[in-house]
Formats: sequence, structure tokens, C-alpha cells
Amino acid sequence: MASVKEEREARAEAVRRVEREKPALEFGSAWEYSPAPESRDHVRLDERYGLFIGGKFVAPKSRKYFATINPATEEKLADVAEAGAADVDAAVRAAEDAYRKRWSRLKPADRGKYVYRIARILQEKSRELAIIESMDGGKPIKESRDVDVPLVVAHFFYHAGWADKLEYAFPRHAVSPIGVCGQIIPWNFPLLMAAWKIAPAISCGNTVVLKPAETTPLTAMALAKVCEEADLPPGVVNIVTGAGETGAALVNHPRVNKIAFTGSTDVGKIIQRATAGTGKRLTLELGGKAANIVFEDAAIDQAVEGIINGIYFNQGHVCCAGSRLLVQESIADTLLQKLSDRIATLRMGDPLDKNTDVGAINSKMQLDKIRELVACGVEEGAELHQSSCAIPSKGYWFPPSFFTGVAQSHRIAREEIFGPVLSVMTFRTPEEAVEKANNIPYGLSAGVWTDKGSKIFKITSKMRAGVVWANTFNKFDPSSPFGGYKESGFGREGGVHGLRAYVELS
Ligand code: ADP
Repeated sequence: MASVKEEREARAEAVRRVEREKPALEFGSAWEYSPAPESRDHVRLDERYGLFIGGKFVAPKSRKYFATINPATEEKLADVAEAGAADVDAAVRAAEDAYRKRWSRLKPADRGKYVYRIARILQEKSRELAIIESMDGGKPIKESRDVDVPLVVAHFFYHAGWADKLEYAFPRHAVSPIGVCGQIIPWNFPLLMAAWKIAPAISCGNTVVLKPAETTPLTAMALAKVCEEADLPPGVVNIVTGAGETGAALVNHPRVNKIAFTGSTDVGKIIQRATAGTGKRLTLELGGKAANIVFEDAAIDQAVEGIINGIYFNQGHVCCAGSRLLVQESIADTLLQKLSDRIATLRMGDPLDKNTDVGAINSKMQLDKIRELVACGVEEGAELHQSSCAIPSKGYWFPPSFFTGVAQSHRIAREEIFGPVLSVMTFRTPEEAVEKANNIPYGLSAGVWTDKGSKIFKITSKMRAGVVWANTFNKFDPSSPFGGYKESGFGREGGVHGLRAYVELS
């Protein structure tokens, strides 16, 4: 019998075979751009980063470090500390100390001033932060510069404004902070997820210990430096780097009052079990398998752009990515033709190049997962269409792809691929579209494309998804709550709903 490893390799080989044999989508060479890479000259990375505990960078008691690499080149960028249980304990104690002695006693308006100061410094450093994000995570500079970093800044500004107005957010209640919050984030939006977690927590008077993902720790380290520069009282924000074990030590620490987690559904379930019965508050933002529903009366070209934005920009590394396309049968041929024409023009390559649309896959492990699921799609009988774009010789890459002939039962229609791979299905009636869209364990986001306002209201109200975009996709705002249904988790981030996760009401 073949071992799991052999099976995996056989599947990966099946994909490589399809990649080799498939007639490639044509790329119009007349549209080639000259390279336009963002300069890295002014970006200074340390060779080695310690842990940010009690307002200082300290060497880990574990004495362990690990390398973080650029997934587009496989070049090592820096060594980062791996926090052990003793390090996590020191960070939690620093956070507890800061909470008791300083932060919870500060006038809310003064707390707000610190958060404003962080926002302004982040804004000044936008360019540097965007470059570090693209180097460490592989996402195109267009995304980190125009989406991630501006949203990071907006999050701090927005929450700074709430610091002294919480009684208006929760009228008729006395509002108090929770205490020490443990926050664990993934690699797809490293700095944005840190902002989503830290900004509301500290604005509400809590202190935090944040654990970034092991493959993308560098912008969190840059954020630690911003906190230093803002003179934030020591211990209000602590950042411990490491992998799953570090995260688990934080989850299980008895002096942590709340855990906020964004990541995979599997790890979310582990955390939910670990916190059950401990009295710790918990919010989980987990996986997704969003349906983008396109009706025959939709503006097709705009819908195609929305689909492209929803799954290919950012390499599909978005938990709310529009990874399932449900298209009304009557327009399926036209839409798919337009989609493959558009995919053929996407430029994959150097994430620091301003013309790049699709960057690198975040890690070798993620690339293997994508390959495995894509191979499974081929084995299950779906038809794979892939862009013929050139694949750089170094780094981790997967070309923009889509599957047709997908059945609801296929793994590619049900599981999160977390790569630039779209599963296309068709429907005939609005009821069928809703039925198919909701027929998965996830419920994070969805999209509806139609010219009829009444249809938008009718369909969105039936969707079991936390966020439903209409005639657009992947749009965020700090005042708008984000979060899931079903196995996509619970709790909301952003807006007044998001503040609720960081306060006690009486
Ligand atoms: P993804 O598939 O998005 O990488 P993971 O759920 O594996 O998602 O990781 C998200 C975050 O959770 C990362 O910071 C990771 O280090 C952390 N993590 C992984 N395993 C655990 C665990 N058992 N307990 C706490 N945190 C964990």
C-alpha cells in the first residue's frame, strides 16, 4: 500500500503533468511591461530579532532562533526568536503589570492619544512597512502598499477615536477592560491582522501579547519598534515570535483573560477545546470558502474584475477569498471566456515590482497544500485551466488557475485551497444559487453580482456568511464588522461589534 507521502507525491506529480500538458492560455506579449521594482534601499532589517517584552527587545530564554525567508527568492531575511513557555510567561506578566499599574488607570483620552501616535508613525513609515510585508510574505507591493498598510493605519486611527467614547458605543452600561489579551494571527495579512487585534484591544484599556505567524514575523517586529517610538508604556504591547507551540503556551497561560485567534479551522478547534471551562473569553476567525454568485443580469466585465480581485490578487491567500464562482448557466460561456482572457493578462513575479498582479505563495508548505488539492481536483474529474505565465526559477509559485466541471462534492468545492485557484459551478435559479452557496461548513464571506437592487437584498439576507459584498468584493473598512458563521468562527472584528470582544459590560 502506498504511504501518505507517496500518495501526496503522486498527486503533486499529477498536477505537474497537467501543468506540462495543458494547452496554455495565451499571453499577449504586446502588453509586457518593463520591470518596475520598488527600491529596498531605505529598508533596514536587523540580522536577528529578539522578543518584544515589557517595552524592550530581549533575547529569548529558550535561546532558540529560526530563519524567516523571502518566499519569492528563498533568501533568508533575518533570524527571529522562538519564544518558549518561559518567554511567553514573561510577556504575559509584563502585560499584566502594565495593565494593573498603568494602562487601565490611564484617562481614556490619554490612551487614545497613544493610539493616535502609533497611527501617525505607521502612516509615516507606510512605504517601508509595505516593502517589508511584500518581502516577508510574498504579496505584490500593489496590495501591501494600497490595501494592507492604509487599512492598518485606518484601524489605529479609527480605534483611537473610540478610546474615550466607549460609553456611547454601549449606552446604559458601565464599560471596563478585560485585562491581558493573547492574540494569535496568521500569515496572509501579517500587519493588518496585528492591527485588527491590537488597535481595539489597547484602545479599550487592555494590554496584549501578540504572536505573529512563523513565516511572516517581520512587520510585527517593525510594529514593536513603532510602539517604542510612540513611547507606549512598557508592557502594553508585547510581541512573541514562534510557531504553534508558542501559540499554545499563550492560549494555555492561566493569566490570559482573552484569546483572539485568526487562522485555520483545525487550530481554532484546538484552541476552543483548550479554553473551554477556563473562563477565558474567545473569538475565532477561521477558514472560508466564499461563493461569488454572478446572475445573468450582472455587469459581466465588472464581475470578472471582482472575481479576479477576489481570488488572484493576493494569491488566494485570503480567508474571505472568492474561491467558488457560481455563475448563472445562461451567461457561463461568455463569462468564462472573459475570465480566461483576463487571467492570461495577469502578471506573476517579483512581489516588489509595481506591475505584479500575483505574487509568491507564502511558503513551501502552503505550495504543497495547494498542489495536493489541485491534484485531487484533477483526479476527481474537474477540468483545470491555468495561465501560461512564466514561473520564476526560485521561490514558491502557483499560476492563476480555475476548475470547470466541478461537482458540489469535490474537495476543491468544499475545502479551503488558500491559493490562486477558483472552482467554477453553474446554477439556474436564485434558489439553487443560495442553496449551493450555503452548502459548505464555512460561512465567512460571499459576493453577489446583479443589476437588480431587490435581488441583492433578497439573496444577501439568505446567505449564511458574515460579510456579503454586492457588486464588489474584498472591500474592508475599520468601521465595518468582519467575522464568520459556522466553522468560520465567531465574534466580530471592526466597528462597534468588534469593540464588544474587548470590554466587560455591567
Ligand atoms: P494557517 O493555515 O493560516 O497557517 P494556522 O492555524 O496553522 O493557520 O496558523 C495560524 C496561527 O496559529 C499561526 O500564528 C500559528 O503559529 C498559530 N498556531 C498553530 N498551531 C497552534 C496551536 N496549537 N495553538 C495556538 N496557536 C497555534
